[in-house]
Amino acid sequence: MKSFKTKDSLKNYLQSLKKGNVKIGLVPTMGALHQGHVSLIEVSKKHCDITIATIFVNPTQFNNVDDLLKYPKPINQDQKILEAAGCDILFNPETREMYDDPEVWDYEVGELNTVLEGYFRPGHYKGVTQIVYKLFNLVKPDLAFFGQKDYQQFLVIKKMTEDFNLGIKLYACPIIRETDGLAMSSRNIRLSPTERIAALQISKSLYFTKKNYTVMPIADLKEKALKFYTNNSLLNLEYFEIVSNDGLKPLSNKKNAIALVACTVGNTRLIDNMMLD
Ligand code: AMP
Repeated sequence: MKSFKTKDSLKNYLQSLKKGNVKIGLVPTMGALHQGHVSLIEVSKKHCDITIATIFVNPTQFNNVDDLLKYPKPINQDQKILEAAGCDILFNPETREMYDDPEVWDYEVGELNTVLEGYFRPGHYKGVTQIVYKLFNLVKPDLAFFGQKDYQQFLVIKKMTEDFNLGIKLYACPIIRETDGLAMSSRNIRLSPTERIAALQISKSLYFTKKNYTVMPIADLKEKALKFYTNNSLLNLEYFEIVSNDGLKPLSNKKNAIALVACTVGNTRLIDNMMLD
């Protein structure tokens, strides 16, 4: 695997590759890699000649300084994971390489920025679109691979890609879970053993919702799902919503629905979701 830390060195290398008309796949990450990230590399390798993973903990998308400071950065382990997955290129810049001068990023993604994650994490999607635009512009991939785990993020990036006519094909890859159902996340390593058990309520509430989706009215489903979060002082639910999977809007009928959750477990904020039909 080739590894680059500067934009220029990556760009030069890609220029020589692109002369050969190769199909390039991009997998943007913030590192602390797990099997969920590896699955994106694997899908990219199936569709592309060259797979580039980026590891960059993007400061502009954190609305909580503590969360940014605590974000794990096991770069040596990450490199080994990427090598083992057969990733071709790693781009792992320092913060100043991506943000050398103060800059204004004014892109507004619209309604998606006002609901769920957009509502609870003000400024988050501004930071996400800012860095993903930079990475798209630098790499100019043919395809880019994201996880359904961050479903709203996928919709936001899709909208940005269309708004700017970037001509990059986006893939949303399935959520990879631990055997007990917990969605894999770089933040899971912060959970204490009791928090790890409490966190299971998140996937349990989603599996319950999916199982009963066809037989219960939405309001009842939601009411019962919320009960998974009561009577446990470690859990602090931010939202549990059942909405349309295209625009995250209230459902007019039981079609194309998705359930999405954000919940703090101890001090760790986790998100998860599940398609219901
Ligand atoms: P992150 O490093 O958390 O920014 O995630 C980088 C990419 O990996 C995003 O597209 C995520 O949606 C995706 N991802 C994170 N966790 C999982 C998971 N459990 N299964 C599949 N994809 C995931």
